[in-house]
Amino acid sequence: MSAGSPTLIGLPYDASSSFLRGAAAAPPVLRLALRSGGGNAFSEELRDLSAEGALQDMGDLALPESPDAFALIESALDDLLASGRRPLSLGGDHSVTLPIVRAVRRVLPSFTLLQIDAHPDLYDEFEGNRLSHACPFARIMEEGLAAHLVQVGIRAMTAHQRAQADRFNVDVVDMRAWESGVRPSLTGPVYVSIDLDGLDPAFAPGVSHREPGGLSVRDVVGLLQGISGPIIGGDIVELNPSQDPLNVTAAVGAKLIKELASGMLRSSQRPGAVRNTL
Ligand code: MN
Ligand code: MN
Repeated sequence: MSAGSPTLIGLPYDASSSFLRGAAAAPPVLRLALRSGGGNAFSEELRDLSAEGALQDMGDLALPESPDAFALIESALDDLLASGRRPLSLGGDHSVTLPIVRAVRRVLPSFTLLQIDAHPDLYDEFEGNRLSHACPFARIMEEGLAAHLVQVGIRAMTAHQRAQADRFNVDVVDMRAWESGVRPSLTGPVYVSIDLDGLDPAFAPGVSHREPGGLSVRDVVGLLQGISGPIIGGDIVELNPSQDPLNVTAAVGAKLIKELASGMLRSSQRPGAVRNTL
């Protein structure tokens, strides 16, 4: 295994979903879309992801349908990171980002967390559940796991979550700000968490919580390509195959896996980048 390689790991877990289940079925669907004969293995930046060592795959974890899954995710991510690889996790609902980021924090003391999402996921608790997929970024910030949280694509804010964003000093680039040209400044190592509902449902309808008025595929690809610091890992979550009969959203997910993996390779090819960031 090449040091610093982006490595796929499937996290088939959706027991923390608050509305529709189904995201647990996403990892194999995303892999199928990624390897579809309908496309090729090159990113737009001309990195060949089928080249030896470019994109590893650890397969899917076997996970119980309870938050006991979190400890298993955390320990699998510990192992992946200990071998010098960088995780590119396939959800699963968005609650999986908490155990992932706990593991990342153990090898990297300071990084910016970029969250692409329609929803802030900052609830203190949701329907009595503090581990709901509506809460992971509140837990992450309470535990001090990310030095800085930047959210892009937000358009389903609530008063409670606005107060939470202030409390955690979150940089919220909501859709109104995005449309007026605001772009986040992303310096230093970055971890990228992509909730596919951050995209407009016209582009990515196959999610559990469709929220109109969102980002285009081009917006997200451009955002990923513009990250100048090393990308230490990422996740793509909330694809719900039961809501995606034409596999359009799976194709979008596969596109974003390619561009995110390419961004991770971009930074690992700089001399010293891996050593200095992991
Ligand atoms: Mn969301
Ligand atoms: Mn989310």
